[in-house]
Amino acid sequence: MAMDPERLWQLALAEIEVQLSRANFATWLKNSRLVDKKEGVFVVSLPNNFAKEWVENKYQKLLLGIVRGFDYSAKKIEFVVDGQNEAQLASKKISVADLSRFENRIDLDFRVDPETNLNPRYSLRSFVVGASNELAYTAATAIVREVGTKYNPFFVYGGVGLGKTHLVQMIGNEIRALYKGRVRPRYVSSEKFTSDIVWAIRNKRYEDVKKRYRDIDVLIIDDIQFIGGKEKTEEEFFHTFNALYENNKQIIISSDRPPQSIPTLEERLRSRFEGGLIADIGYPEYEMRVAIIKAKLQDAKRELREEIIDLVARKVKKNVREIEGVLNKVLFYQDVRGVDVTEKTASDIIEKSVKNFSRRVSDEHILKTVAEFFGVSPGDLVTRGRKKEVVEPRQIAMYLLRDILDMSYPYIGEKLGRDHTTAIHAVEKINQEINKNSSLNQKIILIKEAIYKS
Ligand code: ADP
Ligand code: MG
Repeated sequence: MAMDPERLWQLALAEIEVQLSRANFATWLKNSRLVDKKEGVFVVSLPNNFAKEWVENKYQKLLLGIVRGFDYSAKKIEFVVDGQNEAQLASKKISVADLSRFENRIDLDFRVDPETNLNPRYSLRSFVVGASNELAYTAATAIVREVGTKYNPFFVYGGVGLGKTHLVQMIGNEIRALYKGRVRPRYVSSEKFTSDIVWAIRNKRYEDVKKRYRDIDVLIIDDIQFIGGKEKTEEEFFHTFNALYENNKQIIISSDRPPQSIPTLEERLRSRFEGGLIADIGYPEYEMRVAIIKAKLQDAKRELREEIIDLVARKVKKNVREIEGVLNKVLFYQDVRGVDVTEKTASDIIEKSVKNFSRRVSDEHILKTVAEFFGVSPGDLVTRGRKKEVVEPRQIAMYLLRDILDMSYPYIGEKLGRDHTTAIHAVEKINQEINKNSSLNQKIILIKEAIYKS
């Protein structure tokens, strides 16, 4: 006899839950229900259109496979939107009384543990996984299971606000939870690490600090790029690194760029990093931005209409931090006004908070304007030539592509027929010089004006 369909669906969900990240499961499938089953067709309701589309595209096959494991007669799964839920959602009013709950939402609820410097807010549950961070996420979960043995060191890199700190903190939190104190993680920013070393040198308490760092099982160093070039710190880091590594202690490092692109990093450190596992985190695509917004809303126990979620996901692309910022503003607005935000208002909020010239400015336009300013042709910027007349324009073009359009280094490199390392060097050089060299500063201001004018 066939199994009761309701129960079957619950079992299928339990199975798929193990196969997805918790955040993805919670966002897409947790609220699904089996509403009908006829002649091998399972009809499953999902809370809204986004969930329906996403699940149809991504999980249809997987779900069917699982369901068939329980019921051989299953031929197809169809998804429908749970109309009632949608209506409830749209009519839900948020009152001013909710404001305090919202304000308390993120930081006050969590406390950083002084022993490990880990903040429980960076949990696995709240981490959304998509194409842009899948490798890093998979590595992270593998490290938690096999601390110190397999992926050591683990080096993760990516742009600002894309989730590096969240990921490495999450590894620490998971390790703490799983091994209950038997494995001791510690998180440090590279500034903290540096200042510890400086303190040790100044107070001649070198041994204390050494011991403190070597006396842990998992060392997590965030934003390692800041260590580059600080000789004494690098030296000490190298020794600590080796001591930990030789004892199978896990080392986890984050950076805004790959090891070979940290110009001042000592060669031996670089090759150590390259000997482990390196994963990058990229920009989240649309679907993932939707998932992130939903996960944040769920965490905050808040709701927004689908149109608004879609709008934010379409328009806010720079990084996850920016998405959070806009979302908080929208929710805050709703709290203060006591009504659901309209699309127009949400647009205004986005417009104001997102530095977004990309709609008006194209990369070609930037290159053309730079070339014009210096009296060279756009083609000259791309040629191999090292003549001074083209080197500076080229570097400025790279700098502006980054500054105005926030393009990735590989993309900038490609645009100008160079590799990403050259792009990083160029952007950094201009970044540094702009403060010291007022004529350069002036040039860039003028070029920017020309770019925005037309
Ligand atoms: P980074 O260290 O790379 O600059 P953070 O880890 O500080 O970025 O992330 C910025 C914000 O975005 C944090 O609040 C973090 O929790 C959130 N965030 C980043 N990636 C994700 C993700 N995949 N899922 C959920 N939240 C994320
Ligand atoms: Mg960070």
